[in-house]
Amino acid sequence: MTTAEQREAALKEAGYNTFLLRSRDVYIDLLTDSGTSAMSDRQWAGMMLGDEAYAGSENFYRLEANVRKYYGYTYLIPTHQGRGAEHIISRVLIRTGDVVPGNMYFTTTRLHQEMAGGRFVDVIIDEAHDPASEHPFKGNVDLDKLEKVLRENPGHVPYVSVAATVNMAGGQPISLANMRAVYELAKKYGSRVILDATRVAENAWFIQQREEGQSGKTVAEIVKALCSFSDGCTMSAKKDPLANIGGFLAVNEASVAAEAANLLVVYEGLHTYGGMAGRDMEAVAIGIEESVQDDHMRARIGQVQYLGDKLRAWGVPIVLPVGGHGIFLDARAFLPHVPQEHYPAQALAAALYLDSGVRAMERGIVSAGRDAVTGEERKPKLELVRLTIPRRVYTQAHMDVTAESVYCVYEEREKVRGLRMVFEPKLLRFFQARFEPLSD
Ligand SMILES: *Cc1c(COP(=O)(O)O)cnc(C)c1O
Repeated sequence: MTTAEQREAALKEAGYNTFLLRSRDVYIDLLTDSGTSAMSDRQWAGMMLGDEAYAGSENFYRLEANVRKYYGYTYLIPTHQGRGAEHIISRVLIRTGDVVPGNMYFTTTRLHQEMAGGRFVDVIIDEAHDPASEHPFKGNVDLDKLEKVLRENPGHVPYVSVAATVNMAGGQPISLANMRAVYELAKKYGSRVILDATRVAENAWFIQQREEGQSGKTVAEIVKALCSFSDGCTMSAKKDPLANIGGFLAVNEASVAAEAANLLVVYEGLHTYGGMAGRDMEAVAIGIEESVQDDHMRARIGQVQYLGDKLRAWGVPIVLPVGGHGIFLDARAFLPHVPQEHYPAQALAAALYLDSGVRAMERGIVSAGRDAVTGEERKPKLELVRLTIPRRVYTQAHMDVTAESVYCVYEEREKVRGLRMVFEPKLLRFFQARFEPLSD
């Protein structure tokens, strides 16, 4: 725990960017659920079984077997984390001038698609851009928007980029019926579907809870069904699979797998480790199994829901319905007096840290960055602060402290001022940008 004076000094030192705070200065760390989950006793035991051979490690084959068993893909290409997989698949499939439609962008995913020469087009349903809409599947693709992109760009849509759940929309799920329809549409136009499977088990839980005809299936069965409507996936093993580091690309086409494995030896490592130690691959293999257990998912999403219910009852504006991995504060509604050019979500995350030492992060105009062609700031409709819950780490009491702190800031919201950016990195600026408070 820290004093208000310590937090003020730490925040100033960090340029009002929660990514630049030292962990020792943070009380409850809700920056991200990436690599911050607690590994189980079984995963730690697995770490002792690391086969650290350069080539052909046993742990690679165990991971490959579990990727086939739980997701159903044929070929495994291991990577150091999710963005390694995004880099490789983008370079294999995208040519200059190609178009990649998807259900809302993700920061690293879109950047790798752009760097490979592609242009991302958002084809998510309109409800996803409205924080107050309680649509049960705000991650769904608008099939008319998708078909228009496919029809207008024949031969230039290498794949449809589908995320489950959609992080930037608030952890919102896609329905199984929509996933199937997207796959059928892609096939009709000779394209592919590549799934961002980072939170596919959380997505499966929502399908079990909300989609007609799915309540009798296990999370594991629904995960496999979702993956069956895609040609491959990228995975950050730091999320659903409960590991501290790791990721992979998995595909069904032999030629794509061969090209990816070849690029892997240039950018990640040999094709049987791809940047992970043997022990890390073992932890991922075991984590995959644990992530699809219904009881685990009930506890995990139940905790997120608990925090959301509290904030909602107190009238704090949050993205509805509550998503899978965190609570997203609606900074536009929270701070109506701060215009988007003054970075309201960034300012709100800073104010929350100052109040209690709870670390959240911005998901709005700073994260959206600049248009790749015009260089203008992109102005997303959603201006959010994400309170991301690590898996198996915090107690209900920590959720209570968090909710109370958010409410304290809400009561004093008129006092929160906007920021101005004083340092802007060229790529993925939200990680390293620095700010100063605006004066009156
Ligand atoms: C975290 C994340 C990624 C990138 O994975 P890293 O392991 O952080 O590189 C990709 N997509 C989504 C939806 C994510 O949440």
